[in-house]
Parts: sequence; structure tokens; C-alpha cells
Amino acid sequence: NPASLVQILLHLGEMVTATQSVSEETLQLLGAELDYDVQIVSPEEEDRELLESFNIEFGEDQGDEADLVPRPPVVTVMGHVDHGKTKLLDTIRNTNVAAREAGGITQHIGAYQVTTTLDGEERKITFIDTPGHEAFTAMRARGAQVTDIAVLVVAADDGVKPQTIEALNHARAADVPVVVAVNKIDKEGADPIKVRSQLTEYDLVAEEYGGSTLFVDISAKEGIGIDNLLEAILLTADAELDLRANPDMPAQGVAIEAHLDKGRGPVATVLVQRGTLRVGDSIVCGEAFGRVRAMLDDNGKALKEAPPSCPVQVLGLTSVPRAGDNFIVVPDDRVARQIAQQRAARQRSAEMAKSGRRRTLEEMFKDLEKGKVSELKLIIKGDVSGSVEALEDALLKIDVGEEAKLRVLHRGVGAITEYDVNLAMADDNAVIIGFNVRPEVRARELAEREGVDIRYYSVIYQAIEEIEAALKGLLKPEY
Ligand code: GDP
Repeated sequence: NPASLVQILLHLGEMVTATQSVSEETLQLLGAELDYDVQIVSPEEEDRELLESFNIEFGEDQGDEADLVPRPPVVTVMGHVDHGKTKLLDTIRNTNVAAREAGGITQHIGAYQVTTTLDGEERKITFIDTPGHEAFTAMRARGAQVTDIAVLVVAADDGVKPQTIEALNHARAADVPVVVAVNKIDKEGADPIKVRSQLTEYDLVAEEYGGSTLFVDISAKEGIGIDNLLEAILLTADAELDLRANPDMPAQGVAIEAHLDKGRGPVATVLVQRGTLRVGDSIVCGEAFGRVRAMLDDNGKALKEAPPSCPVQVLGLTSVPRAGDNFIVVPDDRVARQIAQQRAARQRSAEMAKSGRRRTLEEMFKDLEKGKVSELKLIIKGDVSGSVEALEDALLKIDVGEEAKLRVLHRGVGAITEYDVNLAMADDNAVIIGFNVRPEVRARELAEREGVDIRYYSVIYQAIEEIEAALKGLLKPEY
């Protein structure tokens, strides 16, 4: 039971409480002490085992080398705000209007495919239709690698900006080759040469300067250089990547967008990464499952099947998956349902374990009281540095006696950020104090999800009173 485990750990020199999360080393230590062989299983491995129990393999294996055929590159457009990412995605799509079937109506489904010619050969390219690196990183955070090539858009009249570099770093972290689109060359003051020299400082050297990166001058607005850009994407793919997939296997891939449609129910856009997805297939996508009732392409045209690199909107799921969830075709609906249900159950228990792990200020005081912890850790964020310092000073002056201590882990000016919440989590059970500031949306969501306590005050003495009262109250002898 937890109490005995805590005792054993204490003997081993590990100061822990029953609700605390512990490191892998500590778990190994505990296992060794109790003569158990401890195996640490990642959520990914756990999921792979779940699929394997149904004889389903998800992953790299695509069978025989001989069965692989070329597939189109999947491209994400990234770059600084206002440098023309959205415009470029629109222009690429519209210049390919000739290739579209008559009567088709453009549907924004999260990705689209265009056809171009290279050396007289018809080639396709898939574009992810959400510009920016948020989508890119959100999907990567779920372990989904969707993008083969990143197009880095830099406005020639504005040059390299912080987000340009951020985007570049994301592409590099994902090991994705970059093609640079030097945009807005139609504008007065455009200096495409400067963009090239600026990026040299970040080790992105244009081919014409002896490097290996293709730079293409374009105007998304005037439609200049678009064909050259498409060509550069294909040349980069051919030179640096071996994009092949086996179309003759049960389809696998990633959901890139999903929502609940009033009339049609859950609608998900998926990108097929290997195999061929067909109407009638039973699929699981994260915790969602169902049978593919219909598939639509980005022109609203119904498709019977979708080969590798093809993005399609799928109807027929029973719930809405998350962007970045993997999908996989399974033998039948029953298997799909079982896998989805087991994933959902596992997710719920993981969430419960998490929410039980961290404690609120009140609970922490209780732990202080019971002598379980002897230190209250705080992170203080305020609107101006004067108030942060004043609050910190005042809090540290609270006389709490010998038994308990207050410690400020971090202080700063500005909104409560994800960094603050991460810090509170890392230091297990620190409380965040917001003085006249609110959390950023992402920070608030993270705090809610992880059960990190954030306290808001707008008057210093209230903050002091509350913490002092609690600390003193609990340190008062009760009898
Ligand atoms: P995003 O924030 O990177 O998606 O940028 P947008 O695509 O929204 O473009 C920002 C602004 O720049 C819009 O007003 C576009 O019309 C304009 N813009 C985009 N590309 C060009 C271009 O090639 N030339 C000119 N002159 N304006 C452009």
C-alpha cells in the first residue's frame, strides 16, 4: 500500500509523499528493493501493445521494398506573421484551377493537393492549409510527423523576423528540409538579396551562394514565381527525401482537422500516409472510431479511395478525433470499437492519476500541518516589478516559525505563462500567485489539466493575509 511504499522510500533516502509523482530512477530503486523488475512503458509503447493484441501493426513497416511507389510530398507553409503565408496558400490553390474538375467548389478541409509538371511529368504536391507553426508543433507534440517539406515565407520588404527564425528552428527540430519563398517582390523596397544574406547567418545558404537551400522569389499577390516554387519543392523532395509508400495495405495516417458538423456529424480530414483508404473501411482515429461512409476531396468531390499523401474529409466517425491523432484501418467495426474504448479508458485513468497528483494551497497547508512537507513553494507573477517585489518581501517576512518555510521559486512581471505552470509542475506542488495578472490561455489550460493551483489577488494585503492566516492557523497547536 502507498504508506508502506513511502516508508520504504524514506529508508532509501527518498523524501516523498503518497500523492507525489516520482522519477524513473526512484521507481527502479523501489523495484530493486522489493525484488521486482520494473518496466517503464511509454504511452506510445502501450498503444502499440494494444494494437498488437488485435494483430494490428502501426508504424514504419510497409512490407516489401518492391511494393513501394512514389508519393507526393506534404508541405507546410511557415513564416512571420503578415509575410504572406495565407495569400500564398490561396494563390497556389487558385493557379491550379485548370487542373480542377469543372463544377468543383473549393472546400477548406485543412489540406489540398495540386498538380504540376516537372520535366514533362505530372506530379502532385499536398499542402497543409493551416499556415503557421502552431499546427505543425501541436501535431508533433502528439507524435505525428505530417510534413515532409517546409516552405519558409519571408517578405522581401520586411526581411527576416523573430518568427522566421522560430519557424526555421521548428523545421530543423523536425528534420524537415526547407525551401525559402522570398515573397512580395512586387513591392517597392523589396530586397530579396538581403533576405538571402540574412538567412546565411542562420546557416541557410542559397544554392546560388554555394549552399544547398533553394530560394525562390515570388509574389503571392501577383502570382509571380509560383511555378518555380512548386518546382523547387519537388526538386528538394527528389534530392533529399525518399518519399515512397505502399498503397496496397490497410491505410494509416493522421487526422489534421476535425469538427462536428450539424448535418453530417463528426467530420475529420485525414492525411493518408501509407496504404489506401476506401469507403467502407472500419477505422479508429485516436479515441474515435467508425466506418468510412463517404470521402470528399478539397473540391467537395466524392472519392471512393484515397492513396498515400492524399488528404480527404471522412464522414462516418462516431465522435470527433483530435488533430494529430493517428488513424488506422482495422479488420472490422468491433475491433475498431474495442480499441477506441480501451484508449478512452486509459486516457481517463491517466487524467485521474494526474489530477490526484498535484494539490491545492489548502491541501498543501494540510500537508504542512501533518509535517509531510516543510516548505511552501511559490511562483509570483505581477503587473509591475514594484508590486512583485513588495509582495515577495512581505510574504517572506511572514513569521511562520521553525517548522515551515516559504520559498519563492520564481518571480516575474507579466501574464502567467506556460513556463510558470511547467515550473510549478516540475517542482511538484508549487502554487502560482497572480497579482493583477491573468494566465495566458495555454497556461490556464495546462494548469487546469495538470491541477496546478493559481491564486489571483489585486490587493497585496489580501494575498499576505490569506497565506499568513493559513500558515499561522495550521501552526497553532490545536489542543
Ligand atoms: P500571413 O499572416 O503570413 O498569413 O500573411 P497574409 O497572407 O495574410 O498576408 C499579409 C498581407 O500581405 C495581406 O494584406 C496580403 O494581401 C499581403 N501580401 C501577401 N503576399 C503579398 C505579395 O506578394 N505582394 C504584396 N504586395 N502583398 C502581399
